[in-house]
Amino acid sequence: MEFTYEGKSYPVILERKRVKNINLHIRTDGSIYVSAAPRVPEHVIQAFLEKNAARIAPASNRVREKRRRPEFTDGASLPWLGEPITLRWSDKPCPTSLGGSTLTVFARDPAEAEYAFTQWRNAACIALFRQLNTETHDAFVSAGYSVPLARIEIKNMTSRWGSCTARTGRISMNIRLMQYPLGCIRGVFFHEYTHFLHMDHSAAFYAVLRRMYPPYDRYDALLK
Ligand SMILES: [Zn+2]
Repeated sequence: MEFTYEGKSYPVILERKRVKNINLHIRTDGSIYVSAAPRVPEHVIQAFLEKNAARIAPASNRVREKRRRPEFTDGASLPWLGEPITLRWSDKPCPTSLGGSTLTVFARDPAEAEYAFTQWRNAACIALFRQLNTETHDAFVSAGYSVPLARIEIKNMTSRWGSCTARTGRISMNIRLMQYPLGCIRGVFFHEYTHFLHMDHSAAFYAVLRRMYPPYDRYDALLK
């Protein structure tokens, strides 16, 4: 059994048991487990899953994500803008810095290393998103479109890369994008800016998006 949410399908393990109606829980590996009384027909369970998909899918993703969390050990490899970088612990206090593909942090244990990495990533993310926001805005304006300069909110999201609230001129961007190539991040900026012109994902929306950012499909595929 399975259900789909935001274009992704989620397998569900169904077990018939003497329970009241339908019980659902997410296991420690993120798999979705449903127990249902023998008399509950499958289409009722299916409808239950679809109705609650917006809660179940992100919860499952969160658990999976946690398990996949990188280890911040000395020598660990971390994805950064589509390339692996190597984490190096320094036992002497130093600012976190990236030299080539080595990120040096002042850390004596993984928790300190994760903290230093997170601070550094957040600062890099703010700087990069600010720059891409201006660039994307300018590209639309140069092409003759009337779009606002978005106010960017950076969030840690499990189920989407970005979102746009045209009414308030706000765009939310997922900080996890920092793991992916710059082209992917640009693609999300162009996608969200196109929503200032088309609120849906219609053919007209994609026509503008692909005209504004021709490699969109290639980079979007990497994010899927
Ligand atoms: Zn969209």
